Amino acid sequence: MAQGFRRPHQAVDMDEVARLYQPPPEYFEGAYHDGPETIERRQLVRLREKARRAQRVPFFAERWAAAGVGADDLRSLDDLARFPTYTVDDIRRSIETHPPYGNYQGVTPADALREPMRVFMSGGTTGASRPTFYTMWDREVGAVLTARALYSQGIRPGDVVLNSWAYGLHNGAHCFDEALLHWLNCVILTTGTGNVTSTEKQVALAIEYGATAILTTGDYLLRIADAARSLGYDPAVDLKIRALPNIGDVDALRDAFGLEALRSYGFHEVQWVATECEARQGLHIYEDAFVVQIVDPETGELLPDGELGAICITELYKTGSPQFRYNIMDLSALYPRERCECGSWLRRMAPFAGRADNMVKLRGVNVWPEGLGEIASSVPGTLPDYFVRAVRDGNRDEMTIAVTSDRPAAEWDDLRMQIERQLHHQLGVKISATVVAPGALDADTEIHTSPKPKRFRDERAHPHPGRA
Ligand SMILES: [Zn+2]
Repeated sequence: MAQGFRRPHQAVDMDEVARLYQPPPEYFEGAYHDGPETIERRQLVRLREKARRAQRVPFFAERWAAAGVGADDLRSLDDLARFPTYTVDDIRRSIETHPPYGNYQGVTPADALREPMRVFMSGGTTGASRPTFYTMWDREVGAVLTARALYSQGIRPGDVVLNSWAYGLHNGAHCFDEALLHWLNCVILTTGTGNVTSTEKQVALAIEYGATAILTTGDYLLRIADAARSLGYDPAVDLKIRALPNIGDVDALRDAFGLEALRSYGFHEVQWVATECEARQGLHIYEDAFVVQIVDPETGELLPDGELGAICITELYKTGSPQFRYNIMDLSALYPRERCECGSWLRRMAPFAGRADNMVKLRGVNVWPEGLGEIASSVPGTLPDYFVRAVRDGNRDEMTIAVTSDRPAAEWDDLRMQIERQLHHQLGVKISATVVAPGALDADTEIHTSPKPKRFRDERAHPHPGRA
């Protein structure tokens, strides 16, 4: 037998996983209620260990050396802000110069001998896929975090659950499977998507086996509900769905199944990060496994609590590929640490609010198309249908918004002024608006042909430096 070869049960001590990262239901009676000092003391210990690990990885060692910081500089949680952030563009460059894995991984395939590993890939749409190594330890802790999310959304040990996610290069289906199997003792039917098991068959299986949840996107779950209706069933009655851990339109899901749906947040490289509690005052971050910061999407500068910016993640649990101040470019805001109605002191973040890639900086103010649309549509007389353009005027960036209204055209000019006033009042920068008839934006928004309406187009000849 090869030197150093270890079987899975020798590679990872499952008791240790459960002691360091409590699984549900213990977690929700235990670490979930820790006080601020306990939370932050534990974070600092794990963060310092993480920094020492990351410093052995060339990607981080080089960036930190250039910024003049090192693992030993981390004496308080505040020191984390001294370390440079990075984005997916930096990861892409790392893969280009060090194919095929990049120089950001903490392990190599040879390490699989001492600990089983998986490689998952994200983002195949543009450029090369981005691989992430997960050691068995990472899989197990990640499965605990996913199990916490599923539990808080209503899944219970012993439940029968359909896993309708697509099994592929992506982490998705696997991380749910591992959480259900290893940490929730659920009975799993791995149906895969509608291409693998027809939607009608999924309905039949869910009813026959009394499934309490169907893990898939919110959109596909709504299609399953439609299929159930066309087969003569009432989804809220005949399906025994008791939990909605589906990412999507929580209101539509609640209406279809007569159940509350709670939001959660996670992504490919780190798995589950946060879930909403029943107080619905933000998503509680699993702070034994993460430090979440909100930064300016462009500069990486830390933003104050409450301000919308990009999520910057430092994970504290992985032994494979570290993520240390990864600016994921998803938009959210952080709430100050306070005790929630549910009793938890864990910090909360706002629900996912869009992608930062569409941000435009106007006279030093970060502006997002969705933000403009929300403000404009709040003016009485407008419809919630808009389209934003970024344009170059001389040597500065400008944004314009077109908003639809079903009021008589004679009122449009007055409406336009109200919208511009409201935008200026709330954002502090001047943005010009136009008012158009319903349907006039359909060619831009592609509302009839695209699954998701487009709300923004960048028409600047020379986009802002530093942005792709
Ligand atoms: Zn809470």
